[in-house]
Amino acid sequence: MTGTMSSSDTLHIIGGGLAGSEAAWQAAETGIRVVLHEMRPDRMTEAHRTDGLAELVCSNSFRSDDAANNAVGLLHAEMRGLDSLIMRAADANQVPAGGALAVDRDGFSAAVSNALHQHPRIEIRRGEIAGLPPADWGNVIVATGPLTSAPLAEAIRALTDETALAFFDAIAPIVHKDSIDMSVAWFQSRYDKAGPGGTGADYINCPMTREQYDGFVDALLAGEKTEFKEWETNTPYFDGCLPIEVMAERGRETLRHGPMKPVGLTNPQDPATKSYAIVQLRQDNKLGTLYNMVGFQTKLKYGAQQRIFRTIPGLENAEFARFGGLHRNTFLNSPKLLDSQLRLRAAPRLRFAGQMTGCEGYVESASVGLIAGLYAAADTRGKELAPPPATTALGALLGHITGGHIETIEPGSRSFQPMNINFGLFPPLANPPTKKPDGTRLRGNEKTVAKRQAISARALADLDRWIADNLRIQAAA
Ligand SMILES: Cc1cc2nc3c(=O)[nH]c(=O)nc-3n(C[C@H](O)[C@H](O)[C@H](O)COP(=O)(O)OP(=O)(O)OC[C@H]3O[C@@H](n4cnc5c(N)ncnc54)[C@H](O)[C@@H]3O)c2cc1C
Repeated sequence: MTGTMSSSDTLHIIGGGLAGSEAAWQAAETGIRVVLHEMRPDRMTEAHRTDGLAELVCSNSFRSDDAANNAVGLLHAEMRGLDSLIMRAADANQVPAGGALAVDRDGFSAAVSNALHQHPRIEIRRGEIAGLPPADWGNVIVATGPLTSAPLAEAIRALTDETALAFFDAIAPIVHKDSIDMSVAWFQSRYDKAGPGGTGADYINCPMTREQYDGFVDALLAGEKTEFKEWETNTPYFDGCLPIEVMAERGRETLRHGPMKPVGLTNPQDPATKSYAIVQLRQDNKLGTLYNMVGFQTKLKYGAQQRIFRTIPGLENAEFARFGGLHRNTFLNSPKLLDSQLRLRAAPRLRFAGQMTGCEGYVESASVGLIAGLYAAADTRGKELAPPPATTALGALLGHITGGHIETIEPGSRSFQPMNINFGLFPPLANPPTKKPDGTRLRGNEKTVAKRQAISARALADLDRWIADNLRIQAAA
């Protein structure tokens, strides 16, 4: 729609990517007038190539579409249940990809752009918002993504009292705790130090002999690495944290004096033998289902990470909720800075959505856009929409963003990192399944499969209830 809107209950959305496009659609569908601001093509990012809304900057995959067994497939199903534009456009532009949902990227972006252009309550304005939005925009969603333009990123940083917002992001892998072999690994904090909020046994420790350490260093040096894109080479490392393979290149002993140092720890399985090196994992979510590999930020390719990290004693069968990686990223320290409605505590007229909030991936970003659009629409009506239950994929992801993450027990570096949706973010089942429908006992991997299917069924039922209790009432009001 063209023409200018000026009503005070207009919602302004900055950024027409995955999150901003979905947010605009959701809010407009509830009857709210929306202005969507997109800087392309006037100003491009380092990765976008077109002027299309919801452009996919890299892969064309929305990952698994299996709602019963895969957390991102479940998120797809929940978003379809909420009439997501991104999912509708993806479904209409599918290309064959086995169990994954992959799309024709141009067809997908065109479908999103057309739906938004044709919507009677949406106006699309091209141009960069190069600083804080004007004071008379009372209801704003900022969805400018990992490559937010510098003037806006700097204005937000200044509002939040953080030292940085955009930096070279070095992220360490995260492992599902129930895949760690605790007959090899053990719980202990270095020197049994409790620290604030700790117990003295907060870390999972994986011991290495000299031979194992040598083999590990060799594998790191030989492992396949991701190359830097040209535009990435000028961005500094966040907090000076170096990838482990770079540390290994500096000397064979460097890691043993850094993240793999063995001091202050005693293996209860073999107290008389001193470990040559120790890999530590730290609890990553309140539920205690996910642990991150401390200091293990890396540029190794995902396949190499899985192969090499599974040589660490105790991690032979490790399942990774997220692999490590490096790229420029712009995101908020959301658990500290955002309230449960995704509003900036320091300036509540600004709500955030997409990767800037600390989710990772196309689908996750769109899903946070979806809920931000609904929250903002409710605000405009002077109402507050209850968050989706923590048992849903959407609620679990929001929980990670606005509160589920625990701060590291060491002071200093910021520990909150973007994350894909995964089953480790869901609250455990009250009664996990133990038997098959025919009454026989579930064994081994069957238990994991049954547990995931029960979590998915619970999520879909709880989402239906939440929609019935909240959105129908909101629409009627
Ligand atoms: C290099 C790279 C590769 C990636 N590859 C993948 C992948 O393969 N798979 C995956 O799932 N995820 C990938 N991601 C993550 C991906 O960016 C996000 O998942 C997703 O695109 C984020 O959605 P978003 O809506 O938050 O941001 P975006 O989709 O990036 O949308 C943000 C929009 O805001 C606009 N904008 C920025 N600043 C301003 C401003 N000041 N004023 C107006 N408009 C502005 C931008 O032009 C853009 O259109 C990648 C990220 C990067 C950086």
